Amino acid sequence: MIQKSYSLQGLNTFGIPAVADGFAAFDSVETLRELLNHRGEFEQLLILGGGSNILFTKDVHALVLRNEITGISVIAEDGEKITVKVGAGVVWHEFVLHAVENGWGGIENLSLIPGSVGASPMQNIGAYGVEIKDVFHSLEALHIESQDLKTFTKEECNFGYRESVFKRELKNQYIITSVTFQLSRNSELKTSYGAIQDELAARGLEPGIRSISDAVIAIRNSKLPNPKDLGNAGSFFKNPVVPKSLSDKLKMTYPNMPSYPQPDGTEKLAAGWLIETAGWKGKRVGNCGVHTKQALVLVNYGGATGNEIYSLSEAVLKDVYAKFGVQLEREVNIW
Ligand code: FAD
Ligand code: NAP
Repeated sequence: MIQKSYSLQGLNTFGIPAVADGFAAFDSVETLRELLNHRGEFEQLLILGGGSNILFTKDVHALVLRNEITGISVIAEDGEKITVKVGAGVVWHEFVLHAVENGWGGIENLSLIPGSVGASPMQNIGAYGVEIKDVFHSLEALHIESQDLKTFTKEECNFGYRESVFKRELKNQYIITSVTFQLSRNSELKTSYGAIQDELAARGLEPGIRSISDAVIAIRNSKLPNPKDLGNAGSFFKNPVVPKSLSDKLKMTYPNMPSYPQPDGTEKLAAGWLIETAGWKGKRVGNCGVHTKQALVLVNYGGATGNEIYSLSEAVLKDVYAKFGVQLEREVNIW
């Protein structure tokens, strides 16, 4: 059933009180098709999962459809490898905990990322050296216009750094209804990020699926604001990837600047370091600000409008460009 003039405040982790012209939830492909067929005056659609990667700068003159398709089912198992199909409305971290509980490795580094399984391929979610493309098998998505259900392979998703075909060429054309992952009981454990090594050492634990998941949960709880207490959408900006010549030039002035060589010879810089070095960490502007512990995260101290947060992001972008000649890009989806 479509509800009119529906507040989205509790459905986005920034806590912005945007109002949707129409709102409905769906828990199966059939109910989704029914809603699409009976959507009346609503031409524009917005698909919402956990609302943890979106900033509303205005009311939503569209029909908001919230994905609540559940279910985790093993579709193949060969002793070591597990192929598991997950409903797009399943909470990502609940799926991670289910995998850890069963000894299925591959996504433990992605513990505690908010949001839904259906949104995970949108920006190829990643953390601590793992991205979902590493364990991705395929996904099913409903084409909004034809209502055909299409299966996408990994190649067709065209995953990149916080990118996929669904954020670019196929934007607003498909609704992801399920994602299938290939996990393993004998997966390679990824501990290259210093924070994981330090946390495991502090706990006196060897790397394992459960110990890495526990370590990541502890690290994230210690430095990232919980949206329940302080509105935010995680990293507001992507880490910029720049030519090595620019990275080398910056290092002449900032010898301690972190940089990570990429396979194609470019270098990834840490956007958080650039923002902090530009003096923004912990800065408050009106009702919003740059988080005190993590400069990549913009926060709503209460009562901020989406436009206030957007303007803050604009000021940060301009200042970082003026100081370092590096153009940051927003990671969060702007409505
Ligand atoms: P939403 O915000 O609901 O939607 C995001 C976009 O995807 C929107 O454009 C929406 O229209 C579209 N969309 C959602 N579901 C579907 C669907 N089923 N079909 C088609 N389109 C859809 N991200 C990382 O990559 N790594 C991190 O470590 C990380 N840490 C975070 C920490 C915090 C505290 C927070 C608040 C966010 C963090 N994020 C991180 C960002 C966010 O959690 C992820 O991007 C997540 O995948 C968003 O899921 P969601 O369901 O909330 O998406
Ligand atoms: P961090 O450990 O302080 O490191 C800062 C940045 O340097 C990270 O963003 C990371 O890039 C990069 N980095 C660090 N060690 C690296 C290594 N060994 N190899 C390659 N790159 C390295 O980062 P943090 O802010 O606490 O975040 C930890 C992890 O969680 C990161 O992977 C980050 O992406 C993820 N995270 C993402 C969000 C989000 O909303 N997208 C929010 C919170 C945390 P990468 O970002 O490319 O990994």
